[in-house]
Amino acid sequence: MPALILKPGREKSLLRRHPWIFSGAIQSMDEEPASGATVDLLSSDKHFLARAAYSPTSQIRARAWTFEDEVVDREFFRRRIRSAVELRRKSNVEGQSNAYRLIYAESDYIPGLIVDRYNDVLVLQSLTAGAEYWKETLADLLLEETGLTTIYERSDADVRGLEGLEPKIGLLRGTLSTFHFPIIEHNLQFNLNIASGHKTGFYLDQRKNRLRVRELAKDKDVLDCFCYTGGFTVNALAGGAKSVISVDSSSDALDLCKENIARNKLPLDSHTSLEGDVFQLLRKFRDERHSFDMIILDPPKFAPTSAHAEKAARAYKDINLLAFKLLRPHGILVTFSCSGGVDSALFQKIVAGSALDAGVEAQIVEYLSQDADHPVSLHFPEGAYLKGLVCLKK
Ligand code: SAH
Repeated sequence: MPALILKPGREKSLLRRHPWIFSGAIQSMDEEPASGATVDLLSSDKHFLARAAYSPTSQIRARAWTFEDEVVDREFFRRRIRSAVELRRKSNVEGQSNAYRLIYAESDYIPGLIVDRYNDVLVLQSLTAGAEYWKETLADLLLEETGLTTIYERSDADVRGLEGLEPKIGLLRGTLSTFHFPIIEHNLQFNLNIASGHKTGFYLDQRKNRLRVRELAKDKDVLDCFCYTGGFTVNALAGGAKSVISVDSSSDALDLCKENIARNKLPLDSHTSLEGDVFQLLRKFRDERHSFDMIILDPPKFAPTSAHAEKAARAYKDINLLAFKLLRPHGILVTFSCSGGVDSALFQKIVAGSALDAGVEAQIVEYLSQDADHPVSLHFPEGAYLKGLVCLKK
């Protein structure tokens, strides 16, 4: 097996079981490994540290499969997949929805592999050279361990480019009669499209937070910003909201949002869709002196890495400030950030700054995070990306 020898002192992160090794940490290689091939990572004094997948083009040059001196083969991946499947069973996510994340990459100790389950269909994203190298084996094992027959591939995330991989979309195993099918989450139905939807089709990470919004929405005038296919909107209506306005820049998403309201037999006449830019619409509402009892802000990722944090902070500040102004006294702000580059402490600071500049006082009454099917390995804090605050305006 090829070996990568690290520079002196650069073994520290691996000793803490963080799975990434950056190109600058590598002193020498005894041969150039193939893309995705398994390599040994050795300290400068040639001690074994980890067995990893090699990524020839990425700054993250290797990702550890294991820190033990064990064989990385089909049975190795079977054990990893089996424990990920078992975790979803134990965390009872299967009792709440037939759509959930089955494998969450580094957080389930399989770097680069994401697998979401939508009822009887698995949707797979291979994001790294290592996951790509083992993809066919992983696909076979996923079917064996779940008893399912169909896998659709959505390996079209931009990060594949960093790994020197082309986008790939299409059927990987089995057959599919349609890309559109409904799932059930906490007794509500959602139609989604696994071929053209965002990520693998649905924002599964927000499941428990959508339920929380359902519990809080009774008799409220709600504004759902960045509503996508209506996850929060449908839950607010199901919770007895007096009215809901849903805003998104995508007309396809808004069409599905309306369909999802109708599918659950919720009152369409309490609902308004607005296609447009949230940043502009919030200003328009402010100028028109609109007010709400509850505002949800679930924007896209403004800062993929900490290098984008400053620009992202301005965007978060802007929408949160406007939302605080639009809220009535005792109104509730449910605000999220899914940016890896903005941690929870910084996000809270930004929201506090927004309240201050809006001239309002507010309390955090709840901290929200990604649901249990998106676990976080203690050794890979990057896996914790979704943070949310429920704030009560004075
Ligand atoms: N809350 C949703 C997920 C939101 S994803 C759920 O629970 O399912 C982010 C959404 O923001 C996407 O649908 C995207 O179309 C929309 N979006 C991105 N930038 C926008 C902008 N400036 N104004 C309005 N919508 C925007």
